[in-house]
Amino acid sequence: VNCFEVNDHLGDAIDGALSEQVRNRFEEHLVKCIQCRNSYEFELLGKSLVRAKLRHVSAPSSIQVSIIESLRKEFAEPESIFGWLFAPPNRVRAIAVGLAGISIVIMLSFPPWRAETPGVNVASANLIQQSILNFARIQSGDLEPTMKTCQPEGVLGFFEQRNVNFLVNVMPIENCEWYGAIVSEHEGIKLAHVVYKFNGHMMYVYQVGKDDVLNSPMLPATAQKALLESGWYVEPDDAGRNVVLWMANGTLCAAVSSMPKDRLLALLAPN
Ligand SMILES: [Zn+2]
Repeated sequence: VNCFEVNDHLGDAIDGALSEQVRNRFEEHLVKCIQCRNSYEFELLGKSLVRAKLRHVSAPSSIQVSIIESLRKEFAEPESIFGWLFAPPNRVRAIAVGLAGISIVIMLSFPPWRAETPGVNVASANLIQQSILNFARIQSGDLEPTMKTCQPEGVLGFFEQRNVNFLVNVMPIENCEWYGAIVSEHEGIKLAHVVYKFNGHMMYVYQVGKDDVLNSPMLPATAQKALLESGWYVEPDDAGRNVVLWMANGTLCAAVSSMPKDRLLALLAPN
């Protein structure tokens, strides 16, 4: 199959409606072709986001219709970064084809995480690797937040007191058991670390002033390109951990969680 045929089959592939034979050829092509793989990931993401939004509703279909309507309106408003992902399938497909290869960049060679590397930061590692490492250490209890609070405002106050020179993004999460905070420095650059514990999940968000990391080796080139073009970067799955990078209020944030990717994105997407 060629790229045109793969694009034709994207919708059926997502819906699991391809015959086994076509499916095999489709997947063979995705292994070889980055552009088509990006289109596929992009479409999958759009669908899973819509599903994640809808899953919260166990209500009559009229309510689902109104949610879809509001998602469509969101799409019409350019300030909503995620709005375009909520477009009706045909629209998403058209945009997916148009943006393939730029919005969702697949990082092909993610080096394996090294358990033996100590410290809250790893000098030799880029910030994605640092984030994954810190997340693992927090999960294992090896790294403890300096402070824990049940109020998001408490975390903001903590960073303010420690003269963090960029805006730290802390979002209120429903049923959050606690919010944790750590401040550290990496090569003279201040870093803020926010941890959320909720519904049995842990989410860790690494934050740094964007001017400190753009065009620096701390930020992998693929991620930088995606961030500058779309404001977002989604790391391919890595051993059950999902990593999402985005820029907000002049700050670069990297969230790591063991939550499924669709739920993580639904949580991070602006309401
Ligand atoms: Zn292709």
